[in-house]
Amino acid sequence: MSPVTDPEVLCPLCKVAADPQSLCCPSCREDLSALFRLRYAGRIDYNRALDALHAGDTATALFRLRSALAAEPDLDPARELLESLLVTE
Ligand SMILES: [Zn+2]
Repeated sequence: MSPVTDPEVLCPLCKVAADPQSLCCPSCREDLSALFRLRYAGRIDYNRALDALHAGDTATALFRLRSALAAEPDLDPARELLESLLVTE
């Protein structure tokens, strides 16, 4: 189980990928950092869930996976991990 890769954030106006360094649109220079935070929220929780599992803390891992899926319902690795934990619980 490895951390998921970084998501791409598109400028809602230009439909081009934001610059991951500046978190701004390379075309219109719009600040897209809020979008980045939204896009990353589920992954941050997912990665914390992996850390918790690694430390043997299943309860925290379950909590983190549920908030990861609340932030990003399409985050398949989090859903699969949550389901596998619930089966073995
Ligand atoms: Zn733009």
